[in-house]
Parts: sequence; structure tokens; C-alpha cells
Amino acid sequence: MTALDLSRLITAAADTIAAHAEELTALDRAIGDGDHGLNMKRGFEAVRAEADAFAAKPLPDALKAIGTKLVMMVGGASGPLFGTLFMALGKEISAEPDHANLTAAFGKAIEAVAARGKSQVGQKTMLDVLQPVRDALAGGKTAAEIADIAEAAAEATVPMKALRGRASFLGDRSIGHMDAGARSTALLVRTVAQIIGD
Ligand code: ADP
Ligand code: MG
Ligand code: MG
Repeated sequence: MTALDLSRLITAAADTIAAHAEELTALDRAIGDGDHGLNMKRGFEAVRAEADAFAAKPLPDALKAIGTKLVMMVGGASGPLFGTLFMALGKEISAEPDHANLTAAFGKAIEAVAARGKSQVGQKTMLDVLQPVRDALAGGKTAAEIADIAEAAAEATVPMKALRGRASFLGDRSIGHMDAGARSTALLVRTVAQIIGD
């Protein structure tokens, strides 16, 4: 990935989060505390503000620096978790990743998120999108297919009962609403897929 690609990717991700901030907040208001859109927007605007500096770094260092920024700026539960995702990805990825390296690094990054969140797939969180995306990547799906799979996976959190995060405090009342972090993850996956393509 060139510096220009990474800079475009950061801008596109920040645009996507800004365009969907209200939607993310509404989802989080239904079964959480209504700040997910604001949290994500604050984090991604901070990354956007330093996009050129991040993009000038080799990919592993750029991802680690973006992760650190997200931990600091997003806050809440999702800041450390998205931050961990990017930091772990930066640790595992090579400067010019091939498909095998990308898949392996993404898998390790998801494990790091699960360890940090003491969470696993099926608990109505961002992991319920991340894991199907990893599987689709490993299965050689196209970028467009992976984006569709991510969106379907976010939809599939609607009937789930939350077992982690604030939504878990609601017990059965968390059923019938999409998880906000699953939705923001799917939005980011779509954005990456559109920029990087196949
Ligand atoms: P907070 O809940 O602190 O207000 P956010 O609203 O920004 O933080 O983020 C909530 C999202 O974080 C949830 O929708 C869920 O996807 C994710 N999340 C929360 N706790 C965990 C966890 N333990 N493991 C994985 N994801 C989690
Ligand atoms: Mg919240
Ligand atoms: Mg909060």
C-alpha cells in the first residue's frame, strides 16, 4: 500500500464514520448509552487530522500509531478494543502484505480484541462482524463479497442477546436491536473494501 492509498483510506474511513455518526449513536441509545457515534467520530477525526503523518510511515508502524490514537481518542469500551485491533494488526502485518500475511495478521488482531474484551463470537459485539470477515478473507472472497458479509453479520446481531458491554446489562431486552460496534465495524469494512478493491 502506498502512502497515498493509506491517506485516502484514512480520509474515507473518517468520512464514513462522520456520515453514520447519528445512526451509530441511535443504535447505541437503544441498548447502550448513546455515545458510540460520537466516540467513533472523535477518534477518526483525530486520525484524519494526522493522516499525512500516519501515511508517511511503513504500514505496520502506521497501524500501530493509528491504534494508539484510537485508544486515546475514542474512549469508552470501543476505544481500547478498536485500538487493540489496529495495534495488533500493525504488530503482525508486513510492510507489503500478501493475502496469507493479511489473513494471519487479521486473525491475530481479532484474538487480541477478544482477549482484551474477555469476549468471544456470539456475544453481540464487534467480534460478530470481525470473525466472519476474517473467515471470508481466508476463504478468498472478493472485497465486495466481504463487505456484504460484514453487513449481513452486523444485521445478524439483531436477534442476539448481548453478553458483553453495556448492552448486556439489559439482558433479554437487548434482543431486537443491532449492536452499534458491529455496525461501525461493518461500515469500516465496506470502506476498506471500496478503497482497496480486489
Ligand atoms: P461504551 O459502551 O463504553 O459507551 P461504545 O458505545 O463506544 O462504548 O462502544 C460499544 C461497543 O463496543 C458495543 O456495541 C460492542 O460492539 C463493543 N464492545 C463493548 N464491550 C465489548 C467487549 N467486551 N468485547 C468486544 N466488544 C465490545
Ligand atoms: Mg456507548
Ligand atoms: Mg459510553
